[in-house]
Amino acid sequence: MSNLINFIKELPLVNQAKQYGVYPLSVNHFGHLHVFMISEGDQDYLIATGIGASQFQGELVQEGEYSYVKAPLSNQNANILRDLFPFTKPIPVLHKLRSFGVGDRLGIATEGHIRVFKEYDAYPILAQQSIRELALTNRTYKDVLDAASFSVFRDGYKDGFGADGDHLKKASEVEMALGLGFSMITLDCSEFIRNDVILMSKEQVNQECSLDQDIKKRYLTHDFEVEGMKISFDEEELKRNLLVYGKAIDFAVQIYTDYFADGKTDANFEISIDETATPTTPTQHYFVANELTRRGVKLDTMAPRFCGEFQKGVDYIGDIKQFEEELKIHAAIARHYGYKLSIHSGSDKFSIFKLIGKHTRGHFHVKTAGTNWLEAMRAVAATDPKLYREVHQYALSMFEEAKKFYHVTTNLTNIPNVDTLKDEELVNLFKQNDARQLIHITYGFILNAKNSDESFRFKTKLYDLWREQREVYAKMLHTHIGRHLELLYSGFEK
Ligand code: ZN
Repeated sequence: MSNLINFIKELPLVNQAKQYGVYPLSVNHFGHLHVFMISEGDQDYLIATGIGASQFQGELVQEGEYSYVKAPLSNQNANILRDLFPFTKPIPVLHKLRSFGVGDRLGIATEGHIRVFKEYDAYPILAQQSIRELALTNRTYKDVLDAASFSVFRDGYKDGFGADGDHLKKASEVEMALGLGFSMITLDCSEFIRNDVILMSKEQVNQECSLDQDIKKRYLTHDFEVEGMKISFDEEELKRNLLVYGKAIDFAVQIYTDYFADGKTDANFEISIDETATPTTPTQHYFVANELTRRGVKLDTMAPRFCGEFQKGVDYIGDIKQFEEELKIHAAIARHYGYKLSIHSGSDKFSIFKLIGKHTRGHFHVKTAGTNWLEAMRAVAATDPKLYREVHQYALSMFEEAKKFYHVTTNLTNIPNVDTLKDEELVNLFKQNDARQLIHITYGFILNAKNSDESFRFKTKLYDLWREQREVYAKMLHTHIGRHLELLYSGFEK
């Protein structure tokens, strides 16, 4: 440990950092307090030295007149770090021209993500997790936020990042995420959206819904125009919209009023109506936006469900021409009401990114999540073929169970037998949609699999490998997520 004292004697000269195990970009100062991060064995630690170092919780190391605190990456220490160095704290970013969500389910992807966002002006949402993802990865919102804060500190990323409480469905979840400092909430209204209305006859619709004079006057006495495009409602369509979205709109208004209105928070507000059985038509989008606006809700982003299929971790499936036509109107409606379109399940949608960049005129929010996990598994396939094969076979055995939670069209018979593939061929599995979806939807099972003695079957080995091969993973993410941004940016002039 005397090593580190020598480094401390040299502060603030940091060009020797690496030989002391210090992350060179992590060296920061607050008055006469110096804080940086080191790698020791299989862990990272914060080191604090100088005036105020003792506010960090950890082991005090003293040598002559020099001392430092070696602090574990705990929630308590993360809070101190965020207070001292505001760049480690998430900020609202949805009102920026471009933003991009990169869910880091494993808490190890930020290093690679940061490399991407040093090259593009889109603001990253580095912490982004749904409640389902938390449950499947055994993490808490504190863990998710802390992992992002420690990573930006370690890698010296000071341009600002967001934290998304993603797909929250309950007031209590919204309150918890905001309380922890999450800088955006994605309110998932799907439980209030009626999927049965599309199957109802006109008579049934009339039976269930009657229109009052106000709403008739609002929608049936005139057409609407958005950037030259006409939007109009007839009585039946209006009733159907009300039946499908009425409760969801009430819910969004309630949450907004309770947690966002009148400056209660500076966090961003997104609503998602994408997890539904049928696509959101432009008329429905207009209706929802108009009703929310009329009732005082100020949205930063909205995620409609687009036509075609946005399956996890694979390219867009559907009619690209129709997608483009509808995207034009969706983007115009969003501009008209002063928010950005949010594109969910945005992982790997390479054939439509340029169109999204173009028709949003470069003002978008795109969310990815699963693809970052897939890249982590690709790193495993590239660096530990034996471990990869074991995980892959296990994923196959769990596929039927996992399929209950996702809409995928995976055909397992298209996936080559991993035992017949050469080691160097394993990474090619990640070019193949069926294999991608297999690994994508089984992540929770893989991470939670246990041996008979209750130890983790794969999780510990995987994390050890990812730490050892962090450069491989960071490079893969840089290339892969970078390709998403490159295509989005090809659609507009900056
Ligand atoms: Zn979504």
